[in-house]
Amino acid sequence: MTSDIASQIEEAARVLVSARYAIALVGAGISVESGIRPFRGKGGLWTEKGEPPMDGYQRFMRDPASGWRDMLARRSSGDEFSKSLAAAEPNAAHRAMARLEELGVLRHVISQNIDDLHFRAGSVSVTEIHGNRTKVRCVECGARWGWDQFLALAAAQESHSTDRDPTNVPEMGGVMVRVPPECPQCAGIVKSDVVMFGEPIPQEFLASCQREAELADCCLIVGTSAAVVPAAYFPEIVLRAGGTIVEVNTEDTPFTPYASAVLRGPAGELLPPVLEAIERLRT
Ligand SMILES: [Zn+2]
Repeated sequence: MTSDIASQIEEAARVLVSARYAIALVGAGISVESGIRPFRGKGGLWTEKGEPPMDGYQRFMRDPASGWRDMLARRSSGDEFSKSLAAAEPNAAHRAMARLEELGVLRHVISQNIDDLHFRAGSVSVTEIHGNRTKVRCVECGARWGWDQFLALAAAQESHSTDRDPTNVPEMGGVMVRVPPECPQCAGIVKSDVVMFGEPIPQEFLASCQREAELADCCLIVGTSAAVVPAAYFPEIVLRAGGTIVEVNTEDTPFTPYASAVLRGPAGELLPPVLEAIERLRT
């Protein structure tokens, strides 16, 4: 470790510890370190295979039954990407961030990833701006459930029905689910929680990020170019209010010139020493 990196680690720790309310904005870089392929950029899934249709959400809403049949088929067979997501484990960066929350240093994580890895690492206060692959969500009332929990509810609904047409009621891991299943609370359309192309980011997700950014006086940027809106707004809110930026990323972001500490490299290598430095500072 060069003395420059060592001094940036110390500085990052000092800035985070002296913050009153630090939040983090996290992007695909942290997931890549868990073996999940990114969508965009070099080695990206879409770079190789082309982007999915831009109106995925509109297609789903026009015909939610066939959308559900596709979704259930994908879940039971699993393409290469779904398999890499399912096999991914939280890495040292996720664990360091969970520990920082436990220490009261990090108050909230805004994640652009859908992989659930922050929760699995133990983080509690997280907004997943693009949704979570392990959940489903009602587009009407915004209620969310874990997939398994929702399928059990949907199967219970189905057990009261007399329709046994297999096209309407595909079998899913041994349970019969009518497609499209409806929201047990409002009878609205339920979809994967993951925000599709063409789908507006749910208002409650944006409101949560906005609220956290307004509370914050420090934003830790991890594994993201921080150049795509709406995610890019949140560090900007912090910065404009006089807050600090700590950046951990493999390349420059629009916030690099304003950052109090800049750590260039993989978050899984750089966040654990930041955590260690924070634990030293606090004892
Ligand atoms: Zn609902």
